[in-house]
Amino acid sequence: MSTPKVGFVSLGCPKALTDSELILTQLSAEGYQTSKTYDGADLVIVNTCGFIDDAVRESLDTIGEALAENGKVIVTGCLGAREGEGGGNLVRQMHPSVLAVTGPHATHEVMEAVHTHLPKPHDPFTDLVPAAGIKLTPRHYAYLKISEGCNHRCTFCIIPSMRGDLVSRPVGDVLKEAKALFEGGVKELLVVSQDTSAYGVDLKYRTGFFDGRPVKTRMLELVQALGELAEPHGAWVRLHYVYPYPSVDEVVPLMATGRVLPYLDVPFQHSHPDVLKRMKRPASGERNLERIQAWRAACPELVVRSTFIAGFPGETDAEFQHLLDFVREAKIDRAGCFAYSPVEGAAANDIPGMLPTEVREERRARFMAVAEEVSTAKLRERIGATMQVLVDSAPGLGRKGGVGRTYADAPEIDGTVRLLPPEKISKQLKVGEFTRARIVDTQGHDLVGVPI
Ligand code: SF4
Repeated sequence: MSTPKVGFVSLGCPKALTDSELILTQLSAEGYQTSKTYDGADLVIVNTCGFIDDAVRESLDTIGEALAENGKVIVTGCLGAREGEGGGNLVRQMHPSVLAVTGPHATHEVMEAVHTHLPKPHDPFTDLVPAAGIKLTPRHYAYLKISEGCNHRCTFCIIPSMRGDLVSRPVGDVLKEAKALFEGGVKELLVVSQDTSAYGVDLKYRTGFFDGRPVKTRMLELVQALGELAEPHGAWVRLHYVYPYPSVDEVVPLMATGRVLPYLDVPFQHSHPDVLKRMKRPASGERNLERIQAWRAACPELVVRSTFIAGFPGETDAEFQHLLDFVREAKIDRAGCFAYSPVEGAAANDIPGMLPTEVREERRARFMAVAEEVSTAKLRERIGATMQVLVDSAPGLGRKGGVGRTYADAPEIDGTVRLLPPEKISKQLKVGEFTRARIVDTQGHDLVGVPI
């Protein structure tokens, strides 16, 4: 009998990606073949996203396509947890012929559905699965999910209703996974969650164990331990989704000593205290500008990336201007911006003062123009510097077109370093290795560098 084959389509954010990796790892451990296409698959799993309306549409279309191409489809992920009209399950209402539907982080339920519709092969080659699991990212970087869910109730967000309250993974498990990833060749570990600074709150910062020693389930201790694990491998640790709580002040000195990358992804969403209150943002009472300035004083290399929403309901001209001033004064290195768009089921839909689409779009465009001005000026300061670059793709034949990233660039969301042919003809660049590069120019959001 031929080995049963499962086609897998992974949509959505890095948190969804880690769910996909867990399912793929389990499938391989049980001896199933996996593939990224529908070709020859006995069944297809679609991991969906349900965050904004475009993502919902893309997920529903993908399910429809998988049904048309293959016919046997299991749906998992955020969209799987969404209600449709009249309270039923949205996916089932739109695509009644799917075999099973689960919400996010449901490896066990997905595997049960797979077993029901495609029995397990008899001779699983368990030993062939690497300890680090199956990764969807290139071999040299990996996402490490430290918790699920969120205790906040931001008015524009429906994630807590889909993923539930914060559940932190035991610190020992997280560190064990990190160790296996570094030993498996990962050179950059990206820590993700809905709220990284809240890690361990649900467990009252309980003390766990790793390698026979006690470690508190708390961001500071976790980051310290990750830095120690990364060091012998010369690997990077990068933190995402950190809120500007006072506790982050303790992590910044670790960045100054190089234990973790001096990079913080802080989703501020806005700067004006009244808008932040209407958004019910975590740490909305904090003095964000002063906090960033203090972080920069403690760690001058610090790069801050953030996302913002322009045109939130009730946003006045003065509040929007406050946001533009903030981006300039805080010198946000990398900023993304969405024009506010109502999400079905979000509390913000009831906030008075919805702005017309043109105003929201126009504010987004104005925001991006300011953000780009700030970002370009900061990039240009790098010209002449020599920086460590992680090579994502090596120059091909003809020695053109290598691409890498510095500590200032997270994969997929930030810029890159376009690598010119190395100064020394004998120098070989390899994907997943570090090189030093002299920065000679900028190109939009990217740097241009010569490997030395
Ligand atoms: S912090 Fe706010 S935006 Fe982020 S997941 Fe929680 S509720 Fe949603």
